[in-house]
Amino acid sequence: MTFASLGLIDSLLRTLGELGYASPTPVQAQAIPAVLEGRDLMAAAQTGTGKTAGFALPLLQRLVMEGTQVAPNSVRALVLVPTRELADQVHESFKAYAGALPVRTLVAYGGVSINPQMMRMRKGVDLIVATPGRLLDLHRQNAVRFNQLQVLVLDEADRMLDLGFSRELDQIFAVLPKQRQTLLFSATFSEPIRAMAAKMLRDPLSIEVAPRNTAAKTVRQSIVTVDKKRKTELFLHLLKQRQWGQVLVFAKTRRGVDELAVALEKRGVPVDSIHGDKPQPARMRALDRFKAGEVQVLVATDVAARGLDIDDLPLVVNLDLPIVAEDYVHRIGRTGRAGASGEALSLVCADEAPLLAAIETLTRQTLARSEEPGFVAEHRVPMTNAKGELVKKPKKPKKPKVHAAVVKEDVRFRKP
Ligand code: AMP
Repeated sequence: MTFASLGLIDSLLRTLGELGYASPTPVQAQAIPAVLEGRDLMAAAQTGTGKTAGFALPLLQRLVMEGTQVAPNSVRALVLVPTRELADQVHESFKAYAGALPVRTLVAYGGVSINPQMMRMRKGVDLIVATPGRLLDLHRQNAVRFNQLQVLVLDEADRMLDLGFSRELDQIFAVLPKQRQTLLFSATFSEPIRAMAAKMLRDPLSIEVAPRNTAAKTVRQSIVTVDKKRKTELFLHLLKQRQWGQVLVFAKTRRGVDELAVALEKRGVPVDSIHGDKPQPARMRALDRFKAGEVQVLVATDVAARGLDIDDLPLVVNLDLPIVAEDYVHRIGRTGRAGASGEALSLVCADEAPLLAAIETLTRQTLARSEEPGFVAEHRVPMTNAKGELVKKPKKPKKPKVHAAVVKEDVRFRKP
């Protein structure tokens, strides 16, 4: 199959040739003709599948072919994404695919001054890539009007809901024209996403390129059990002993990120970090430095888990397991991309057994376990079985409640 057979115009085909895209990925093969036809789309596709080009290429073609003049402060296509990093990345993809096409674009997210974004909106733009909060700010200040809007793309819709954007999304949906094309991309299809799809989409084409909720097959996954308080020490030990190269590490909290980053810095390991408390330019700089190979270890919270496209990343380490099992799939999806092999290693302590069980249920596998000599856990991590269930120890029989009557009395006389 070729891109030409999907109906793309010559200028886009030339650009794809220059980018070295020889043939469409499965999601592109299905999405491109459907989007060109004007159909709604509901696509289950993870990052790494080429989904961005799957919607960006046909969208650009439609914008150019229709050639409508955009009015001041208006927009013809809107791409909503959950994070600033993803907004930048998707916008960069649009710019790369657009090449010399006459398309005005804007990327808009919070954490940076709104003024340049408002200035750019004055002449109107063909396409905005935005996070929901900043888009609403722009709309409230009359900098963005939606009466010319033809296409809405929801990218990583599940992540937007996870991050608590559902109210913002509803407010945005309420001000968009009803007559439009809507494309919904989501790595997972939970009930809330299905409900959103049912409300937003008209006779959508459903595309599923990776089986639901399965982790990338090319990623070797395993866990090392360890006591909670020794995780940082174990990480430092493994980094040295296994001679790791570049590694992306996920920690649960901002504090956890900072602690590991400081410990690495003290040992002279080139490190940077990304979390929600850091200003946007610092987050972008950290990512750029990591991509450029200037830092060996990038420590991040789940802000960085989705959508980021980092080439040839060999290893992802979970210093803590994520609270939401789906985030595990996204975290490890940062490695083993585009068919390359990768490794994902999780340091798991006893408290995390239920999270481990949830991940194993979701990904339908039991993760291989090992212990590192010198770091054997005092608090044993309960076994989880092949069905991803937590194998509980048989419960001790309960002692009879001798104080039952007293407790009842207490309740009766408690003040309301
Ligand atoms: P995405 O899933 O959209 O984040 O894309 C993942 C990576 O695959 C990006 O680096 C794209 O540049 C690359 N890519 C997308 N489509 C193709 C293609 N047809 N051939 C080669 N690389 C591609």
